[in-house]
Amino acid sequence: MDTLNELRTQIDQVDRQLLQLLAQRLELVKHVGEVKHQQGLPIYVPEREAEMLHARRAEAEALGVSADLIEDVLRRIMRESYARENQFGFKTVNSAIKKIVIVGGGGKLGSLFARYFTLSGYYVEILEQQDWQNAVNILKGTDVIIVSVPIAKTVETIKRLKPYLTENMLLVDLTSVKRAPLQAMLEVHTGAVLGLHPMFGPDIASMAKQVIVRCDGRFDSRYQWLISQIQIWGAKFYQVDATEHDHSMTYVQALRHFSTFANGLHLSKQPVQLANLLALSSPIYRLELAMIGRLFAQDAELYADIILDKPENLAVIESLKQSYEESLAFFIHGDKQAFIDSFNQVKQWFGEYSEQFLKESRQLLQQANDYRQS
Ligand code: NAD
Repeated sequence: MDTLNELRTQIDQVDRQLLQLLAQRLELVKHVGEVKHQQGLPIYVPEREAEMLHARRAEAEALGVSADLIEDVLRRIMRESYARENQFGFKTVNSAIKKIVIVGGGGKLGSLFARYFTLSGYYVEILEQQDWQNAVNILKGTDVIIVSVPIAKTVETIKRLKPYLTENMLLVDLTSVKRAPLQAMLEVHTGAVLGLHPMFGPDIASMAKQVIVRCDGRFDSRYQWLISQIQIWGAKFYQVDATEHDHSMTYVQALRHFSTFANGLHLSKQPVQLANLLALSSPIYRLELAMIGRLFAQDAELYADIILDKPENLAVIESLKQSYEESLAFFIHGDKQAFIDSFNQVKQWFGEYSEQFLKESRQLLQQANDYRQS
């Protein structure tokens, strides 16, 4: 027992040293943040991150430490670092911009962007639903208008902006669907237009590595500065045609949100207690439950609007019903071989991704298990 206590004391001491080193590293990150802020350099530089991880992995192996361990630890530290680099603000890419108005800027996503613009030295005003009688004053002298209202209200809100728009203004939207808002913006405005879809929710700790879909509208040279500004925040852009974007969103969002909702609905009607299921759950089941459960901590209206956006979504969802029936039929008929054949067809469709996903999900599962408390 004495030996064990002695060893535990030594481990505690080493952990404290790790803590000191961590504090030292975060202090250095603070200075990096200051320098990047002054020079307008992006928060996330993929090459630097890849080089650094490669070098540490090799050094870890030379010391007999697992390369995956050091990569895990460093990635977690880097995530913390990216979030901390925000606190110094960001360089103002376009100092000619005197005013940015975010319509719906009191909402979740609008307020996130308002914060980032303010951190980048821009003057931001909000136009909320109760502010329209004062819209003339709020929109006077505005260089950029960003629309971030619920999907179902986006097109009508864009149309409502028409009397206040002048040729020199940049009109942008952040809506999760792109074709209709982009078209409406191009119709009401003769100046520069840009459609954006941030592929993340409002609860991110940092924009580093986050993806924003970009659907160009008109006069892209007039909003190049905005793209550069957002890149400094750490986000990556993915440029795509609005119709193609909406088509992909049928699968990326509508189908997925629907099936997650249906799974939650189904489970909630079963004669089971969530706490009991969790107590018996494997890490993967817990993670799957978490992916379902997190939907219900968010905004029902947003999901309804995404699913209702276009008839194509319902057609694909309808075909999901058929796939359920087809899958169930294997078992109703006890046709094990048909199930195995179908399984192998799907496996082929996933191709190399299925091995890659197995590897990626292993990391997530280990992490889910680390945080397990009950
Ligand atoms: P939200 O409901 O939190 O915010 C919307 C805001 O718009 C609210 O503050 C509301 O008061 C305001 N508003 C409503 N009608 C208005 C009007 N007529 N004039 C002015 N303001 C009005 O919603 P959100 O989640 O922030 O979503 C806003 C936009 O961002 C949506 O288009 C959504 O598709 C998009 N988006 C959201 C997410 C997300 O995860 N939340 C992710 C990507 C894109």
